[in-house]
Amino acid sequence: MKNIAVIGAGTMGNGIAHTFAQFHYKVQLIDVSQEALDKGITTISKNLDRMISKEKISEADKMQTLANITTFTAIEEGIQYADLVVEAATENRALKTKIFKKLDELCPKETILATNTSSISITQIAAATNRPDKVIGMHFMNPVPIMKLVEIIRGYNTSDEVMQITVDLSKKINKIPVAVNDYPGFVANRILMPMINESIETLYNGVAGVLEIDTVMKLGMAHPMGPLQLADFIGLDVCLSIMNVLYDGFKNPKYAPCPLLVNMVMAGKLGMKSEEGFYDYSESRKAEKVAKMFL
Ligand code: NAD
Repeated sequence: MKNIAVIGAGTMGNGIAHTFAQFHYKVQLIDVSQEALDKGITTISKNLDRMISKEKISEADKMQTLANITTFTAIEEGIQYADLVVEAATENRALKTKIFKKLDELCPKETILATNTSSISITQIAAATNRPDKVIGMHFMNPVPIMKLVEIIRGYNTSDEVMQITVDLSKKINKIPVAVNDYPGFVANRILMPMINESIETLYNGVAGVLEIDTVMKLGMAHPMGPLQLADFIGLDVCLSIMNVLYDGFKNPKYAPCPLLVNMVMAGKLGMKSEEGFYDYSESRKAEKVAKMFL
C-alpha cells in the first residue's frame, strides 16, 4: 500500500492523514470544505511543531510529512490512486452510506474501504456497496497521532484477508490494532459511553457534584481525566448520539441516555466545543477552573 485517501479533514481526518503521512504513505486528504482542508493542514503543522519541540521528530521529518499530503475538494480526483480509503466524514448514517456508494462506483475493485465511524454499523455501511468483503471499520482514537489504539471492526461480510491487511497496516503506522466484531458501540464505546452516562446519572441524582465525581474517578481509578470532563472533551452531542445507538441497537433500558444529558444537548451545552458543558471553558480550556453547579 502506498496511497491512502482520507475523507474528511476534521478532528479525526487530519489526525489520520498526519499519521499515515508521517509513516511515509502518500495521503490524499479530501473534504467538501476548502476551509476545513486549510484548517486541517494548519492543525497538522502545529501538531508536528509540538513533536519537534519535544524532540520526537526533526524539522526535515515535518517537511517530509507535509509534502506527503495533497488536498482535494473533489472526491473523484482524490481517490483515483488510493489503495485504501479511510472515511472520517461527519457521523451521519445517510451521509456515510452515500459516500460509500460513490466510493464503490469510483474506486478500483480491489481498493479497501474503511470507515472511522464511532457507532454506525459497518455491515450496514458495507451493504451500500458491491464489495462488502472489502469494507471494514478502522476506529482511531482522538488525538490520532498520539493514541496507540485502533479498533479494527469486522463487518458481517469482511474477509479474513482484508482483516489481516488492515491489522498489518495499522502496525506499520505504529498503532496497536485490536480486532472486534460489529455490534453497537463496538468495544470502546460500548464500555466507555455507559460509564459516562452513569456519571451524568450520578450527578442528576444529586449523589455528588461535578468535581467530586471526576475526582473520585481520577484519583480512585487512576483515570487521567474524570468522566464528565471526558464527556465535555468528546462533545455531549456525540455522547448522546452514541447512547442512542446503543439503546436502539440492544433495546435494553440500561442504555437509556440520562435526561440531564438530553437536556444539556437540547440547550446547546455541548462541552468544550460550545465553551460550556459540565465545566465552563469561556476563559480557559483547563476544565478544573470552573465546574458548573447543576443541582
Ligand atoms: P468533524 O466534524 O471534526 O469533521 C468532519 C469533516 O467531514 C468536516 O470537515 C466536514 O466538512 C467533512 N465532510 C462532511 N461531509 C463530507 C463529504 N461528503 N465528503 C468529504 N468530507 C465531508 O468530525 P470528527 O470528530 O473528525 O469525526 C469524523 C468521524 O470520526 C465520525 O464518524 C466520528 O464518529 C468518528 N470519530 C470521532 C472521534 C472524536 O473524538 N471526534 C473519535 C473516533 C471516531
